[in-house]
Amino acid sequence: MSRVAYVNGTYRPHGDATVHVEDRGFQFADGVYEVWSIFDGRLADFDAHMTRLHRSLNELRIPIPMTREALTQVLKETVRRNRVRDGIVYLQVTRGTARRDHPFPAEGTPPSVVVTAKSIPQAKAEATAAKGVAVVTQPDIRWGRCDIKTVGLLPNVLAKQAARERGAYEAWMVDEMGLVTEGSSTNAWIVDENGKLRTRDTQANILRGCTRAAILELIKEEGVEFEERAFSVDEAKRAKEAFFTAAGAWVMPAVSIDGVKIGNGKPGPITKKLRELYLDQARRDAI
Ligand code: PLP
Repeated sequence: MSRVAYVNGTYRPHGDATVHVEDRGFQFADGVYEVWSIFDGRLADFDAHMTRLHRSLNELRIPIPMTREALTQVLKETVRRNRVRDGIVYLQVTRGTARRDHPFPAEGTPPSVVVTAKSIPQAKAEATAAKGVAVVTQPDIRWGRCDIKTVGLLPNVLAKQAARERGAYEAWMVDEMGLVTEGSSTNAWIVDENGKLRTRDTQANILRGCTRAAILELIKEEGVEFEERAFSVDEAKRAKEAFFTAAGAWVMPAVSIDGVKIGNGKPGPITKKLRELYLDQARRDAI
C-alpha cells in the first residue's frame, strides 16, 4: 500500500514528500512535533497532544500554522489516506523556510507543516509488552528546555542508539545527581522496593508526557500508592517493577536495567494493570 504525506497544503506520495533545503527545521532543528497513537483509525489522547503542541509553539514563538479544526482535519485525512487502523500519526511544525540566518525570519514567513502516518501491528506490540524489554542508562546531555517538544533530538537519538547497540530497547537518561530524568522517547516509572509507584516530577527538565498525564488520572481511580518524585538508578535496579510510557509504546514493561533483573524479570502486576487500563481508556476515548 503506497504511503502519503501531507506537506504544506498538499498530500503527496511519500517518496516525493520533501521540504526546502532552507527549511529551519532542517537547518536549525527550529521546530516542534507531536505524535498521536491511532486505534481503529482514531486518534488517542487527542486534546492533550493538541494542547501541548500549542504550548510548544507558543514557547518558541512559532506562529500557529492553521486553526485547530483545520489541523484536526489534516491529521485525520492523513490517517485515512494511509489506511492506518492501528499505528501513529506524526506532525511537525517548523519556523518555515528562509535564507539561512540564525535570527527568526521576517514576520509573516509561513511555518512548515508536515504530517505522516504509519501502521504498527498491534500483535507485535503486544508480544513485546508480554515479555518486557531491556533498558540501559545513559547520561542526560540535553538542553534546559526539554519541556518543549522540539525536533532537536540529537541527544535522544544518541541515547537510543547506544541502547540498541547494547541490546536494549530504551535508554533511561540520568542527571548529574544519578537520578533518572526520562527515557530517550518515553517517561520513566518504577514501583519502588516499598511498593510505591513513582515517576519524576515535571518541574524538572523533562517532557510532560500525555500518556504520563493519562496514567496519573487513572491511578487516582485505582487507589495506587503514588509519589511524583525522582528515583536514582540504584533505586530503579532494586525496584519491584519498572516501565515507561509514550504514545505508541503506551505502557511498556522494563524487565532489566543495565543488565540487572527487575523483580522476577517479568512484567509486574501493576505495570500490566496500568497498560490494560490505559489501552481501554485510550481506545474508548479516541476521536
Ligand atoms: N519523553 C520524551 C523525551 C519523549 O520524546 C516522549 C514522546 O515522544 C515522551 C517522554 C512521552 O510523551 P507522550 O506520552 O506524550 O508521548
